[in-house]
Amino acid sequence: MAGPMEHVGTAPKAGPRDGVSLDVAAASATKLAHVHHDMHDFPEPIPWKTGQAGTVAPLDRDTSWIVSAPKKASAPVASAAAVATPTITAPAKPKPKKKKLPGSGIPARLSIRSLVWVRRASQVFFFALFMYFLFQTAFRGTFAAQADTPVRLPLPVEGFLLADPFVTAMTVLSTHTVYRGLLWSIGLLALTLVFGRVFCGWICPFGTLHHFFGWLLPSRRGRGAVRVEANKTHTYQRAKYYLLYAFLVAGLFGSAIGGLFDPICIAVRSIGLGVIPAAQYIGGRALGGASMVPSRGVQGVADHTQDFLASAVWQSHQFYFHQTWLIVFLLIAVLFANRFIPRFWCRVLCPLGAFLGVFARFALFGMEKDHAKCTDCNLCLVNCQGADSPQGGVKWRQDECHMCLNCETACPEDVIKFRFLPNRKGTVTKPDTERRTALAAAGAGALFLPASRIADALDVNYHSKVIRPPGAVEERGFLERCIRCAECMKVCPNNALHPAFLESGLEGVWTPILIARIGYCEHSCVLCGQVCPTGAIQKITEKEKLGIGVPPVKIGTAFYDHGRCLPWSMQTPCIVCEEFCPTSPKAIWVEEVEAPVRDSKPGPNGEQPAMKTVKLQRPHVDPALCIGCGACEKVCPVQDQPAVYITSVGESRSKTNVILLENTNYNQKS
Ligand code: SF4
Ligand code: SF4
Ligand code: SF4
Repeated sequence: MAGPMEHVGTAPKAGPRDGVSLDVAAASATKLAHVHHDMHDFPEPIPWKTGQAGTVAPLDRDTSWIVSAPKKASAPVASAAAVATPTITAPAKPKPKKKKLPGSGIPARLSIRSLVWVRRASQVFFFALFMYFLFQTAFRGTFAAQADTPVRLPLPVEGFLLADPFVTAMTVLSTHTVYRGLLWSIGLLALTLVFGRVFCGWICPFGTLHHFFGWLLPSRRGRGAVRVEANKTHTYQRAKYYLLYAFLVAGLFGSAIGGLFDPICIAVRSIGLGVIPAAQYIGGRALGGASMVPSRGVQGVADHTQDFLASAVWQSHQFYFHQTWLIVFLLIAVLFANRFIPRFWCRVLCPLGAFLGVFARFALFGMEKDHAKCTDCNLCLVNCQGADSPQGGVKWRQDECHMCLNCETACPEDVIKFRFLPNRKGTVTKPDTERRTALAAAGAGALFLPASRIADALDVNYHSKVIRPPGAVEERGFLERCIRCAECMKVCPNNALHPAFLESGLEGVWTPILIARIGYCEHSCVLCGQVCPTGAIQKITEKEKLGIGVPPVKIGTAFYDHGRCLPWSMQTPCIVCEEFCPTSPKAIWVEEVEAPVRDSKPGPNGEQPAMKTVKLQRPHVDPALCIGCGACEKVCPVQDQPAVYITSVGESRSKTNVILLENTNYNQKS
C-alpha cells in the first residue's frame, strides 16, 4: 500500500546525462549497474540520473515497483500443444502480477519495511497524543461548582515539554538547577544514544507536521533532479547548530530565549494560541449558521457538534490572544518552506534537532553502506527526510539522519543497511560546523542579554502592564526559566494570559502577561502553575494563593481613575467593581456620599440647570487586600480605558516593585 508521506520514483526514461555531477565512485558504480541491468533486461529505472529536471511522481514505494510481468515468448508452443490435444480445459487463472523493484530489484528486508510502517504509526500516534494533550490543556467546568475540590488537570499535558532535552539543557544553564519534571528528558537522550535522532523521525509532533506538509505541498519544481539536489546535504543545514550554540550560551548568561525556537514550544504556542482559536472562530460561525437552517436534523447535528467541540476541543466561548497573528504567520511561513526544501525547519533551524544530532554521534544503531553496489539511482535521496547523504559514494551524516528508514526500503540494490554497531568508516558523526562561525554564534548568545537589558532600566522603569501569573518567580528568575511554551496561556480558563511583545523588553518576547480587560485571574485557580514545565510559575496551592494561613499571592494592585469613574466624576451610581471583587473581605470598599449634581435640563429662561443631590457609593481600593486579579478592570462598564485598572506594582514576587519601599528612608520605618 501507499506510504502516506513518502515519494519514490520510477518512470524510466532514457536521456542525456548532461548536468549530472557524479563523483568517480558513483560513476563507476553506475557503469557497473548498467551492465547489471542489461544482463537482466530491465528497463532503465532511473529518471533523475539523467540530470534532467523531470517528473518524479509521488509514488507508493511498493506499488510503484509493479511492472507488467514479461510476456512469455512461449505462446506459439502453447498453441501447438493445444492443437495436439484438443481437450477443453478450464481457463487458466490470471497469474498474480509480480512486484518488481527498479534496478536489480532486491527488496528491502522485511523487518525494515515493517519498521517503516511502525514508524508511520508512531508518528500518527504521537501527533494525536500531542493534539489530545493540547485540547486537554483547558478547564471547562466552573470554579464555583468545584469550590471544595482543588481544580487539577487529570493528564500531564505538558509531557512533551518535560521530555525535551533542549529545554532541560537551556534551563539548567540559565538557573543552575534542574527542575524535577524535566528529568524525563533524560529518557529521550538515552533513546538518542541508542537509536540516533529517532525522536525526529518517529515522535516529534512538529516534525510530523512538517513531514505531512512536505508530502501535501510538494513544489512542482521540487521533483526529479531538483528534488534530488534539494535532498542532498547542504551547508545551510549548519545553521541549526549555530542557533543551538547561541541559545545555550544565552542560557548560560541567564536567558531562556531559545524557547522561541524550540519545536515543541512552537507547536504548543502556534496551535494552542492560533490554530485552535481560529478553528473555533470559523467553525463556530459555520455551525451557528447551520443551526439557523430550518431543518431539525441539520440543527440537531450542528448543536451536537458545537457541544462536542466546546467540551472536548475548544472552549465554551471564543478565546483571543494578543499578538497571535505574528505567531501564526511564522508557523505558516515555516510550513510553506516545505514546498521548496522538504522538512526545511528540521534540517535548517531546529535547535532541538541539532541538540539531538550532537548526541546521535554516539548512537549504537546506524547505517552501513556497500558503496560498490550503488547504481546512483538516488531513490534513497528522494525519500530522505533528513538530507543526511544516504546515497552511495559519499559519507553518511549520522547527526542529520531522522532514522525514518526510508532509504533502506527504497534502495533496490541492497546498498543500505541499518544495524546495531555498524561499521562507521563511511560515516560522519560530528556536526559539520565551522569553528569561527560557531564562536561567533556563541558570542552573539553571550551578547544577547546585555544588549537587551541596556535597552531599558527595568529595575526602575518596569512596564506597569507586565503583570505575571500568580506564582511567577521574580522577574530575572522568570526570564531565566520561561521558555515561552504558552502552556499557561492555553490553560487559563479566563483567557487572562497572553504572549507579551516588547512590554518586558526583547528578552521577554512571548512570555505570559495578564491582560485583565480580556480576562481576569480566577480567584481560586492555580492551573497555570500546574502546567508550567520549568517552574517559571511555581505550583502553588489554592490555600497559598488565597492567603489561608499565609499572605495571599498578589500579582498587582488596582487603581482608580477618578476622572473616568462614574460615581466619582459623573455622579452616576455604579458599584460593579465592588460587587465583582473576589477577596474576602473585599479589597474594594465604598464610601457613601451625597454629592451635588446638576439637573440635566436648563431652567425655563435658559438659566443654569438647578442643583440637586444624589446618593452615591464611591469605590476605594485597600492596597493591603487587593491581589491585583483584575476582576474589577474586566467588568468596569467604562469602555476603552476602564476607570479601574491594575498594574504590577505591589506584586508579591518582587521586593522592589512596590508602592512604598519598606525599611527605607522614604517612609522612615527602618
Ligand atoms: S528536527 Fe526538530 S522539529 Fe524536526 S523532528 Fe527533530 S526535533 Fe522535531
Ligand atoms: S492567571 Fe489566574 S485564572 Fe489564569 S490560569 Fe493562572 S491562576 Fe488561573
Ligand atoms: S510561564 Fe508559561 S510560557 Fe513560560 S514556561 Fe511557564 S508555562 Fe511556559
